[in-house]
Amino acid sequence: MSEFTLTKRNDISPKCPHCEEELGEVFYQTKGRGLLEGRNAIYYCPSCHKVLGVGQGVAK
Ligand SMILES: [Zn+2]
Repeated sequence: MSEFTLTKRNDISPKCPHCEEELGEVFYQTKGRGLLEGRNAIYYCPSCHKVLGVGQGVAK
């Protein structure tokens, strides 16, 4: 594992790799109902709606 420096930057926004729009926000959707609700989230660009990644649901 190579080391790298983590720098927190809130003054710039990440860009969508698909449409290059700045991501001021990221939309997400959860699949499944009931017990499965919120366990798998799909994150997507609010501009082009392409999927940026999948992951665990947002903790409440
Ligand atoms: Zn996009």
